[in-house]
Amino acid sequence: MGIFADIEKRDHEQVVFCSDKESGLRAIISIHDTTLGPSLGGCRMWNYASEEEALRDVLRLSRGMTYKASIAGLNLGGGKSVIIGNSKTDKNEMLFRSFGRFVEGLGGRYITAEDVGTSVKDMEWVRTETKYVTGIAQAHGGSGDPSPVTGLGVFTGVKACANRVYGPDSLAGKKVSVQGLGHVGQNLVERLVNDGAKVYVTDIEEEKVSAVVNEFGVEAVSTDEIYGLDVDIFSPCALGAIINDETIPQLKCDIVAGGANNQLEDESKHGHVLKENGILYAPDYAINAGGLINVYNELEGYNRERALRQAEGIYDILMDIFDRAEDEDIPTHYASNRVAEDRINNIGRIKNIYVGHQTGVNPDNRR
Ligand code: NAD
Repeated sequence: MGIFADIEKRDHEQVVFCSDKESGLRAIISIHDTTLGPSLGGCRMWNYASEEEALRDVLRLSRGMTYKASIAGLNLGGGKSVIIGNSKTDKNEMLFRSFGRFVEGLGGRYITAEDVGTSVKDMEWVRTETKYVTGIAQAHGGSGDPSPVTGLGVFTGVKACANRVYGPDSLAGKKVSVQGLGHVGQNLVERLVNDGAKVYVTDIEEEKVSAVVNEFGVEAVSTDEIYGLDVDIFSPCALGAIINDETIPQLKCDIVAGGANNQLEDESKHGHVLKENGILYAPDYAINAGGLINVYNELEGYNRERALRQAEGIYDILMDIFDRAEDEDIPTHYASNRVAEDRINNIGRIKNIYVGHQTGVNPDNRR
């Protein structure tokens, strides 16, 4: 498929190929949709096997950001960028500053941030060349680690799911399994325990498991056992694609609600299978939007309290999604897409109202 056909297929607005021989930069910036506001999304550094793979990835990821921003009620569009290279060996100041200059050249149509393969430190270099970067360290007036805000959003989302399935929000006495004890998983475990849940945990890193077991008195299980546990709620907070043909038959839970990205291995299939099996699925990009909410707040002058309160709004966002799924008898991730698309279409329509300072005919230019 040609590049334009690829871009048009999923309604991307603009794709920028950035090349700088001096620094060795080869990057692609993809702006999917700016109806709601400037596009925002992280900069991923990855040793792609081919240019086609890099393009496919950035197109897919930028589109995902449009949906995430929309469902979270933010005035942001969807964007993403990829730098082709090895994040362990190819990083330097020149590379990231040259990337920053390309971002600056887009005049605010795209705002970047750290992502897989890039760090807050790399973004400091980017910031030397452009103000269109977010997710900066707290020491530099930024919002710092977004995980506590993501963790609160996921916890709030788990409670929304519990309300839907069992009635009360409270997780007291509920059995919850958490896969992955990284930044988000640990935060979530603490909140679950404080709410009275019986929590089971797993991680590939033994030290993380023993630390969490010691601190919160939760029960450790093996990485294979986690899927088939007899629990009420399964919360994936590690990897993507863990809801698949192999794991679904093992699930005994009523709810899948966790922070990991891209949980459904095949969106067109596995969301339906969860629904058929009577399992309520909290769409990943809605329940884990706390991180995006956090960096959005940085753009407006950061206030952690405000970011945390906004992340609690994920409760109502999920309720709207579940209502829509029930009304239309569709899987929840499709309902989520429809709610996100409706907001974009509706806001797009009001933007047709002339407010007096658009380009085009301008009466002030008359001589
Ligand atoms: P992290 O890297 O801190 O933690 C991930 C944890 O998962 C690690 O402890 C790792 O050892 C563990 N893990 C990896 N493979 C595993 C396996 N097979 N079984 C069990 N555990 C395994 O990452 P994080 O920041 O906590 O993010 C977790 C997930 O949430 C990721 O999918 C991430 O993309 C998503 N997410 C994070 C944020 C955020 O604010 N940090 C925001 C949105 C989405």
